[in-house]
Amino acid sequence: MTKINYDFIKSFLSDKKNIVITTHKTPDGDALGSSLSLYHSLKQKHNVSVIVPNEYPHFLKWLPDNNIVIIYEGNEVASDLIINDADLIFCLDFNKLHRVDKMFEIINNSKAFKIMIDHHEEPDNFCDIIISDSSVCSTAELIYDFLQHIQHPLNQKIAICLYTGIITDTGSLRYPNVTHKTHQIISKLLHFNIHHASIHQNLFDSQHQSRFKLLKICLENLELIIDKKAAISFLREQDLIDCHYQKGDTEGFVNMPLSLKNIHISTLFIEFKDGIKISFRSQGEFDVNFFAKKYFNGGGHKNASGGFLNYKDISKALDYFSKALNQFINA
Ligand code: 5GP
Ligand code: MN
Repeated sequence: MTKINYDFIKSFLSDKKNIVITTHKTPDGDALGSSLSLYHSLKQKHNVSVIVPNEYPHFLKWLPDNNIVIIYEGNEVASDLIINDADLIFCLDFNKLHRVDKMFEIINNSKAFKIMIDHHEEPDNFCDIIISDSSVCSTAELIYDFLQHIQHPLNQKIAICLYTGIITDTGSLRYPNVTHKTHQIISKLLHFNIHHASIHQNLFDSQHQSRFKLLKICLENLELIIDKKAAISFLREQDLIDCHYQKGDTEGFVNMPLSLKNIHISTLFIEFKDGIKISFRSQGEFDVNFFAKKYFNGGGHKNASGGFLNYKDISKALDYFSKALNQFINA
């Protein structure tokens, strides 16, 4: 990571600014936790808005002050006014501007100073300052460091949001990119008297029945291919309709087959109105970031990535996947 001029950032923030914090489409716990933690820190002195491209999952709707979050989709006019008025835009938890979906144009055209804080590989050059480290487990951990650098103290709300970001992006502290530093940060956050058991309960034990109905279909559709080393499953649009799908219902489904012995890669296809969203997870050396980039217009991390196919028909997508996977492993 290139050296960041924190003195410049501190002096930029020394007088009251209009600040917009944004993150990627369909924000997850890290995206929203990072955004709200920074909001809680900066709002003490500045005008701060958090604007996200579209709706976020119901299991994040308890995060402190999440009701201030503006959903761009459906609030375009008001959001554009705020973004056009911004002196500073924080781009959190994404490395390519198209990840903000319909906010692309307005952010791209904005004259505001832009700071990226992110942990995905190969960030594009659309910000004035890029704080990016793909070895770090979560953007929330980078926000923790950022607040230390600009000498902003933590408080309980910030601690809750950062804890949520780290926990959700690390599978509750189990992934290989978790370090002793991550645990030290968690320990510091716990000093703010946050109730970690309630946070886990809010995140993981507040699911709707629709999730279980969809999980049942997902498990019925599960297939193991390539010597049982690859797992693949799918949900059709009609399944989502029949089960009364709500955003967040399928979170973590793609990880489940990895608990089978000898699985290297797990893939989940979900058919939405506008196309097919694909999630990839892997263990060990199988690089799903590269795989998603090469065949699925996507990307992410080495062991967790996503992509999108503009297909209407899921069988065509599954067929394409199977050919791509064979080509990839035989290359
Ligand atoms: P998920 O499967 O949970 O949607 O995404 C897994 C990881 O891949 C996340 O880190 C997410 O940011 C990233 N990701 C998901 N979809 C895309 C995509 O279309 N493009 C890129 N560059 N990254 C993605
Ligand atoms: Mn993240």
